[in-house]
Amino acid sequence: MDLLLSAIGIAPESFHRFLEWTLCEHLVMALANISEIDDYFYQRPDALRVFRDLLTRRTGRTWSQRDLEVLFDRVKLEKMQHFRKPIPYEEYLKLLWQVPLLCVRCGRRPPDVVLHVDHIVPASRGGSSTRNNLQFLCAEDNLRKSNRREVTGPWLDLR
Ligand SMILES: [Zn+2]
Repeated sequence: MDLLLSAIGIAPESFHRFLEWTLCEHLVMALANISEIDDYFYQRPDALRVFRDLLTRRTGRTWSQRDLEVLFDRVKLEKMQHFRKPIPYEEYLKLLWQVPLLCVRCGRRPPDVVLHVDHIVPASRGGSSTRNNLQFLCAEDNLRKSNRREVTGPWLDLR
């Protein structure tokens, strides 16, 4: 696979990071859809402990305290954003194949910057999660946009 990626001009390392990020997003979506994690879940005093048990059962692995807390917060944020629809894998991949790997604002590329996937029209304002509404922004430029928490960069250590 690395050979093919290099042949089409994509650094294998950046592809692996990108894939890791989409898989993390997928895990958050999957957890947010567990029936036990309902709208009242985060009001429970023992929410973190119950979350840890659900996560362990669901994934079959033990998570570090840091990753557990990051996932806990990300799923919480996800539950609060009812308007957001998950971005399908094929749309991520289309973006990766079809546009240059650089920030559309400043033109910088990895490894100088970390690229985030950004909704051109924010999902909160009805923007779709399809390729035509997605673009790459560097972390810095993404933070300057107001709806900055909608899509974040890679964030799990997987220690
Ligand atoms: Zn930029």
